[in-house]
Amino acid sequence: MAADLRCPACDRTYDAGPDEPWRCDCGHPLEFATRPLPDRPAPDFAELDTRDGLWAFEEFLPVRRLVSLGEGFTPLVDADDWDAQFKLDCVFPSGSFKDRGATVTLSRAAELGVETVLEDSSGNAGAAIAQYAARADVDADIYVPADAKQSKLAAIERAGATPVRIEGTRQDVTDACIDAVESGEGWYASHAWNPAFFAGTQTFAFEVAAQRDWSVPDAVVAPLGHGTLFLGAYRGFRALSDAGWTDAMPRLLGVQAAGVAPVAADLHEGSDAERNDVADGIQITDPARGDQIRDAIEATGGDAIALDAASTRDSLDALHRSGFYVEPTSAVAVAGLRAYRERDVLDEDADVVVALTGSGLKS
Ligand SMILES: [Zn+2]
Repeated sequence: MAADLRCPACDRTYDAGPDEPWRCDCGHPLEFATRPLPDRPAPDFAELDTRDGLWAFEEFLPVRRLVSLGEGFTPLVDADDWDAQFKLDCVFPSGSFKDRGATVTLSRAAELGVETVLEDSSGNAGAAIAQYAARADVDADIYVPADAKQSKLAAIERAGATPVRIEGTRQDVTDACIDAVESGEGWYASHAWNPAFFAGTQTFAFEVAAQRDWSVPDAVVAPLGHGTLFLGAYRGFRALSDAGWTDAMPRLLGVQAAGVAPVAADLHEGSDAERNDVADGIQITDPARGDQIRDAIEATGGDAIALDAASTRDSLDALHRSGFYVEPTSAVAVAGLRAYRERDVLDEDADVVVALTGSGLKS
């Protein structure tokens, strides 16, 4: 039985099924009605079967493993030049952390018997959904901006998904995709709205904690657009704590692109800087789960800041010269680590994990 859905804002519930709504009647994003937790103590690392990849943590997931490419257990490595640990979420079948969400979302689609999935993205999420749809043998329509670069569409087209080009702004692309969902053309496999996607990105936290023998870092620094990884990490660390597998929560520190930084602008004055087009993967003006992002920051003593193109580019160069071949948007988190230390948000000796979210091979 596939898990039912519930609205955290108004408590309405919805039965699972291929025609389930993509959001609540009240407008809020939906969650799963149940949140599974293991009823055993944390296992030793050697007891985890890492051949299962991130599905080694299936007992935390409200979805059965049906569609997988062996993803997960990305490396956690020391980055001495930055006095931090980097979680290499650039090491995935489609080249980004979005595979964490895509494997769970397409598994959910398979549970429900969905025939066509829809997504709007021109970048990593579109490629991840296209590849996992191919693995699941379901159709995928990926809505993209009309001016999306052909190089970004290649992974979508080669996987057999259909790019649907939409003129206008990024919001126009989302609106066109939602119109298609509401007119019955398919199930919305959105990395911003679908709760299965966030169930998947929780596994970032499970892996980090397991790889550190269940010690939680003082802080996690991650890029922040729709909060797909940021919220997933929060939920994962919360679930570990609720299961008694860990005994602390990390501070969640987000880094946004200057000029398109709604969360940072709420927390700090003067965020009207020149637009950072280097970190183009996180230019989201109105995140679907903005209230939940703000709650996660408040609950963990976290923060969000906006950084400019120059500091992002400097960090990208430094990463590449150190062997970390990531895409430009990933570099904003590393630039953020430096900025958080300079602003004394982080102590010099703070134990920090930074997420490197996407490979440079596609960019
Ligand atoms: Zn509601």
